Amino acid sequence: SVTPDPLRVAVVGGGIGGLAAALAVARSGHHVTLVERASRFGEIGAGLQLAPNASLALEQLGVLPAVRRTAVAPPRLVMMDALTGDEVTSLDLRSAAYTERFAHPYLVTHRTDLHAALLTACQEHPSVTLRTGHTVTHVDQDESGARLHFAESPAVLAADAVVAADGLRSRLRQALVGDGDPVCSRYVAFRGALPTRRMTGRMSQHAASEAVMVWAGPRMHLVQYPVRRGELYNQVAVFESDHYTPDSDDWGTEAELEERFAGACRTVRDALPLVSRDRRWPLYDRLPVDTWVHGRIVLLGDAAHPMLQYLAQGACQALEDAVALGQALGRYGDPGEAFAAYAAQRTQRAADIQTQARRFGEICHLEGMGATFRNLHLRSRGSDEFDDMSWVWTPAAAFVPAR
Ligand code: FAD
Repeated sequence: SVTPDPLRVAVVGGGIGGLAAALAVARSGHHVTLVERASRFGEIGAGLQLAPNASLALEQLGVLPAVRRTAVAPPRLVMMDALTGDEVTSLDLRSAAYTERFAHPYLVTHRTDLHAALLTACQEHPSVTLRTGHTVTHVDQDESGARLHFAESPAVLAADAVVAADGLRSRLRQALVGDGDPVCSRYVAFRGALPTRRMTGRMSQHAASEAVMVWAGPRMHLVQYPVRRGELYNQVAVFESDHYTPDSDDWGTEAELEERFAGACRTVRDALPLVSRDRRWPLYDRLPVDTWVHGRIVLLGDAAHPMLQYLAQGACQALEDAVALGQALGRYGDPGEAFAAYAAQRTQRAADIQTQARRFGEICHLEGMGATFRNLHLRSRGSDEFDDMSWVWTPAAAFVPAR
């Protein structure tokens, strides 16, 4: 096949999705300028689970060895009953069944570490230009190209194609798709990573096991796992607020967090004071759309498919997006053709995972008889049975329609 002439591709947003896209597009032979509104590149101080579909994407982007230097490969994913403290079910990530099915590791990492690995790879790539302090206000386009306009200066950036990786509240999506505000789930997360040595008593046993622990309870759950070579321990406490009001931050408070977790088992209650309270994170998603392509502009990551975090797939899907976009732009010189191939490969899969993430949250937060039946059902599953997760953890085979 003939390599297409290099395009000038602008990427809007320097989160995990935007950096991965910049890297993938540059590696496919194009010139990339990435613009980020913040004055410095960065991520928040919390963890991220990377299922095998993400490890595969990181390998395809050439950064898996860098990510593995600090990431932890947990031996098990364990679901506990947050009320009784009993184990409900687990998946053995070191079993022969896992390795046969997935080939790539399940990893947990600090967001900053993953972000830094992607940023370094972009900085080292000769075809990537990175600019901070650039807030895109709008993009105009015609047959000759696209032009990005910024809040900070009248200077315009000309590009042949634009990747909107500007996150949950994407301004570009708003202008192009126009499906209103993200949908608030009324759930809130408090999260952060702390030195693992601060986990004492029974909590220290779980931390030392390096397993991903999910404590599921009525309308709440706690997730725990080690990051950064095991030196830090990530904790995410999630619960539904009874006091949700749109356009206000006065709900999902620390007091409600304490109240919702009051009936949890001792181990969970002991962990709660160590959950970071610096900031609360209301949890949003959107209904899927398949209109990701708008002329020379294409959506990627949370801008395309914001999802609830219950399958731990938002960033994994952004990484899959990036790889698929790079492959499509490596194949087609025309942005329209490349974007159509990218959307054909990605929209249905992302939509299925968005939809399933909502369901998974409902199952996790069941109460009463619902929780009893869930536990009974899950207890009958073996720790080497991956049928429920395998479609999520296996990316669709690369599909680029023939010309
Ligand atoms: P973002 O990270 O939001 O990046 C968007 C970037 O664009 C930002 O840097 C922003 O400053 C910039 N920007 C915005 N507007 C403009 C503009 N106008 N001009 C220029 N720049 C702009 N996913 C997983 O895979 N595994 C997990 O375990 C997991 N756990 C999660 C737990 C919680 C509690 C939550 C809330 C999410 C979790 N996710 C997880 C989801 C994951 O965090 C997101 O899907 C992912 O970070 C999205 O990356 P992104 O680059 O698309 O968007």
